[in-house]
Amino acid sequence: MNTVSSLLDAAWHERYRKISALNIRSSIYDVTNRCNLRCKGCFFFSSNEHEAAIEETDPAKWRAFVRQEKERGVNLAILIGGEPTLQFDRIEAFYQVMPTFCATNGQIKVPRDRFPDMMVGISLWGNEEDEKVLRGRDTFAVSSKHYEGDPNAYYLYTITPKQVGRMEPVIRKISDVGLKVHLQLLTNDEQVDGFFWTDEKLRDVRVEMDAMLDAYPRTVISSKYYHEIITTGKMLGRPFGWNECPSVTEQLDDRKPQPKRLIRFVRWASDLRTVHRCCTSATRNCATCKDGAAHMSWVMVNKRAHLKSTRDLQNWIEVYEMFAKLYRFIPW
Ligand code: SF4
Ligand code: SF4
Repeated sequence: MNTVSSLLDAAWHERYRKISALNIRSSIYDVTNRCNLRCKGCFFFSSNEHEAAIEETDPAKWRAFVRQEKERGVNLAILIGGEPTLQFDRIEAFYQVMPTFCATNGQIKVPRDRFPDMMVGISLWGNEEDEKVLRGRDTFAVSSKHYEGDPNAYYLYTITPKQVGRMEPVIRKISDVGLKVHLQLLTNDEQVDGFFWTDEKLRDVRVEMDAMLDAYPRTVISSKYYHEIITTGKMLGRPFGWNECPSVTEQLDDRKPQPKRLIRFVRWASDLRTVHRCCTSATRNCATCKDGAAHMSWVMVNKRAHLKSTRDLQNWIEVYEMFAKLYRFIPW
């Protein structure tokens, strides 16, 4: 039987050792139900998750909740919404207690005197043209001014089918403002015309993602195995979907047999009591879900399956390293 030691040389074994010591336990929190944008294809609003719970507004209750989460074993809080930067007091409740990641559209700046090293992921849905169609404005024009050169911020570039063949200028402008970028794919939850994936587009986007990683290795935080997984929806011949997804809320996970999953993972609504099914929306079709974090986590929880060969295990290490970099557990 293959073991980690039998498959890796000394250099890869050292990389493996660093990530295997991390023991990341994440959960996701809706900080608010409000947003200063209304993007077409936003899973939160399109599935009415903003109406699933009434926001808890008492700062003391948020602080007590975060302490409970820490006691539950969570060591990475992923803050989403709505737009978390509309509620800095709630962000602070997390930031003071545990490693915290804040997803934002970048239109309100996270004050660095208050949150000096909090990792910030800024959403970007393509070039100016696509952003105006899908999000009503060119968000990059504002977010890039807020975060230029910030060592604890990066762009989360959601690639749409219309971006295929046109990614390079987007990556270049991110590089030019001294920021990193992580790539993910639009799921098109609101069936916007012209933004559907086809097999051909998925094949093309994979080639282009690989080319961007080769051309901008210091800017693009990614791995070719991740590109393969997210564009094919397959890992080691197994199809992604409900039966395999690792990012399902623990108390709602009644799957039998239970697949490998994120330990103790919960996605909490903003009343601090209600939970959502998974890291995206309960109305999303799992068969066409392109969620990047769920695909990354899918690889990460399936280490044993990657002990088939040296290349498979190296692929697993690269995806794990990518996740750890994106959430500040290891340096870029
Ligand atoms: S900025 Fe984010 S939360 Fe707000 S509408 Fe757009 S996708 Fe949804
Ligand atoms: S919608 Fe995506 S993230 Fe949610 S359970 Fe289905 S596959 Fe997983």
